[in-house]
Amino acid sequence: MDFVAQLKSSVNIVNVVEEYVRLRKSGAHRYMGLCPFHSEKTPSFTVHEMHQFYKCFSCGAGGDVLKFVMEMQGISFYEALKLLAERYGIPMPKRSQYADEEARVRGALLQMHELAQDNFRANLDSAAGVAARGYLSRRGLSPETIEQFGLGYSDRSGRALIRLFEFSAAQMEQSGLAARRQDGSLYDRFRNRLMFPIHNESGKIIGFGGRALADDDQPKYLNSPETPIYKKTYVLYNLHRAKEGVRNQDRVILVEGYMDAIGVTTSGFPGVVASCGTSLTAPQVQALKRHSQKIVVNFDPDAPGANAAERSINLLLHEGMHVRIMELDGGLDPDEYCRQRGAAAYQKRLDAAKGYFYWLADRARKKYDVHTTEGVVAVLQFLLPALQRISDRLERMAVANDVAAYVGVDRGLVLDRFRKAVAQRQETRFEQAPFTLRPDERLLLNAVLAGPELRGEVIGPLKGLAAVGRLASRRIFQAVFALDEAGGQFSFDEVNARLEEADQNLLAEAVLSNNAVASREEVLAALESMRRSEEQDRRGQLKVRIKQLERAGNWAEALQVTEELQVLERVARASAADAGPRRIVQ
Ligand SMILES: [Zn+2]
Repeated sequence: MDFVAQLKSSVNIVNVVEEYVRLRKSGAHRYMGLCPFHSEKTPSFTVHEMHQFYKCFSCGAGGDVLKFVMEMQGISFYEALKLLAERYGIPMPKRSQYADEEARVRGALLQMHELAQDNFRANLDSAAGVAARGYLSRRGLSPETIEQFGLGYSDRSGRALIRLFEFSAAQMEQSGLAARRQDGSLYDRFRNRLMFPIHNESGKIIGFGGRALADDDQPKYLNSPETPIYKKTYVLYNLHRAKEGVRNQDRVILVEGYMDAIGVTTSGFPGVVASCGTSLTAPQVQALKRHSQKIVVNFDPDAPGANAAERSINLLLHEGMHVRIMELDGGLDPDEYCRQRGAAAYQKRLDAAKGYFYWLADRARKKYDVHTTEGVVAVLQFLLPALQRISDRLERMAVANDVAAYVGVDRGLVLDRFRKAVAQRQETRFEQAPFTLRPDERLLLNAVLAGPELRGEVIGPLKGLAAVGRLASRRIFQAVFALDEAGGQFSFDEVNARLEEADQNLLAEAVLSNNAVASREEVLAALESMRRSEEQDRRGQLKVRIKQLERAGNWAEALQVTEELQVLERVARASAADAGPRRIVQ
């Protein structure tokens, strides 16, 4: 077995996918979740455990475990192999044939980030790190917390990393850890800053955030630039640590800053992520949604924080998240609140977090005078877009009534107009494509793939049926027959590898639309149904032939063929009566 096959046989795609997507079991070997490759509100992303592949029926993404990791992380085949091998402790052959140039660059960048992290950690414990340590202790961070979050310090020299790195100048610049002066020389991007490592979802350091320690150092927060390993719009701070908590609690808490994420987490609230100073993006929300669809937004209590929360609501609703807004009193940010008021107080605020529409209604009431009709209209107009994003009509109406009561609207006409506007909504629905395969065809394909016993019983009779050559899945059956004749390994992967993409999609459909392992009796019934359709085809051909002969005036031969047809029809009636009402279940 080559290394790829060995690796694939020792990891389970369900476990790998579950690191990124919350899956629910939905059949004998089938799991479903929200597709990580396109935006959706109802799951159409499916993983098949027995045959070890995934398929999205909406966007068409699909493949094996390696393809999944490649697409998910935007990495090469070689890197995906390496990542899975490391993750599951499978020794990888030293000199690998799979490495390519891009993979080498990203490998070098990851290595530089690890070296930089070691350097920053050591600096923090050294004499040079005294100011940074002082800042951390003022912010109440224990040594354990500093260790847990890997905080460090970049020294003042501006030369520490470029001296340390044994990489080409081009690669150092590409890492974002070094920058280039006008004269072409390199210097460390981060100097005299408290360093927060930023990880990707699988826990590798891909960038840093650096907080200024001197008051006159601008900007206060400096982040790594975009690099081949750091795509800002896709990354949320702390997600790799938080995702387990997010799933367990079925809720994510979104804060603004690194210190907020650290402070709230260490107060005993798992499942906290930060947007890292950028405004929230759709890919970030999609990354969260794969773990939970419920979010509590806990931004700073100041005006910019409230505005950022308001902006994020529409995006979150658009992605189908259930949004609550958490407000802290006393003008404290989440980190300060946890330290000054304690975890129990924070928990209370968390429990009291309002549904986003009540929060928006509060904002609107502060903006407009609800004692005037104009004010009421303005408030309702303000709320309308968010309400219209609720996809369920009944829920939308219920919320609209609640909100109207909350705002204090009792003017019949205004309320009526509001209700009408809420009720109207452009519905865009995803229609599940009808199955292209016949039930007996699906069942037989699954039987062939299920194991050698059924396969042995089914392949012989199938090969003798011309009807198989007219099925939508005929090329799949041809691949099956060819593999069977070759007598080697027989697996889903082997069959799949012999198919063009359109047929791979059909095969995925056949396997995923199958809910349970078919019994031998059902398989034989499907074979019988194939046979009957073969005879039906034959009778259809005879009828066409008879018409042609009659048109040509060849009455003698037409009569002969008619007799042949009658014999076949008698046989069909007899066998149908014999078989009774036995039918194949869809
Ligand atoms: Zn998809």
